[in-house]
Amino acid sequence: PLVLGIETSCDETGVGIVRGRRLLANAIASSMDEHSRFGGVVPEVAARAHLEAMTPTIERALDEAGVTLDELDAVAVTCGPGLAGALMVGVAAAKALAVGLGKPLYAVNHLVGHVGADLLQGEGLREAVGAVGELELPTVALLVSGGHTSLLLVRDLVSDVEMLGETIDDAAGEAFDKVARLLGLPYPGGPQIDRVAADGDPNAIRFPRGLTLPKDLERHRYDFSFSGLKTSVARWVEKHEQSGEPLPVADVAASFREAVADVLITKALAACRDLAVPRLLLGGGVVANARVRELARERCEAAGVELRVPPLSLCTDNGAMIASIGAQLVAAGHEPSGLGFGADSTLPVTEIQVR
Ligand code: ATP
Ligand code: MG
Ligand code: FE
Repeated sequence: PLVLGIETSCDETGVGIVRGRRLLANAIASSMDEHSRFGGVVPEVAARAHLEAMTPTIERALDEAGVTLDELDAVAVTCGPGLAGALMVGVAAAKALAVGLGKPLYAVNHLVGHVGADLLQGEGLREAVGAVGELELPTVALLVSGGHTSLLLVRDLVSDVEMLGETIDDAAGEAFDKVARLLGLPYPGGPQIDRVAADGDPNAIRFPRGLTLPKDLERHRYDFSFSGLKTSVARWVEKHEQSGEPLPVADVAASFREAVADVLITKALAACRDLAVPRLLLGGGVVANARVRELARERCEAAGVELRVPPLSLCTDNGAMIASIGAQLVAAGHEPSGLGFGADSTLPVTEIQVR
């Protein structure tokens, strides 16, 4: 089926078009620059930017795909989780489009969308990291971005996704952004820390690995915590400032990055081992991190786990991943969602489609 997907859960206005698993278009407008002086995404600013970007981004996607609106078989949209006001713009746009065109509408879970990104095939799409060919299930999926840090068990993309664990405080990307700020680096902090850390010693400072002590593992085996790490970096920087010596920014950045990457990959591989699932899929903007990728590759190989990482353009928020799940729902014969659903900022991952 030919499906157009709309994504507005955070700061990317994404419109993607797929034909089954074929990626035809992935148009994105980001309001990231508008948030930079606030050091994080401002919900109202994001919602307004979606409103302005929606129509041009839809037009760009249709153009890129070389299809017209009446050729579409269905429309899909992210209905949660995410920022309420931002989600609402996408949901309203998708409803208007579906009603106007008389096409079925599918309301899709954003997190499941991130997994759906891996199904997509297209020119130059699989030059990235990891396995080639069909996504095999079940798989463990680690999704890390500015808004979420989630470990999922995916048995079936349209009917069986389970949340194994998630962050109990900050998301990993949020920690990158906050620590960057602390080190005087601009927003978004992830790419900046990555760049600076390349010249640093990852073992210079031993920062804490959140929720990895035996007592934590009992209750939070697959959960994450990054706010203690952020505080620990802040303390270290404060203490160092008293010495009057210049701050070893590269070493702090490298040691911090190492702590995040270590705990992410350790927990993901623990899930693979415990559940006897020899596959790990990565998604979300933090997957751009050089050390996260490197450590994932090394440790998966050592553990005999197949690693899959979609190309970066499909790891960050986009509409194509939502269209991908929409196409799966159509192919599986699921009923459309109707028009009664609304944006749900805390939608659980078990609700793959909202009706
Ligand atoms: P959502 O949480 O809804 O997916 P988001 O906009 O926060 O939305 P993304 O756009 O996927 O998520 O990712 C942005 C985040 O990824 C930011 O926090 C950014 O700092 C982080 N990031 C980007 N590149 C890197 C990198 N090289 N290393 C670490 N973090 C990175
Ligand atoms: Mg973003
Ligand atoms: Fe996301």
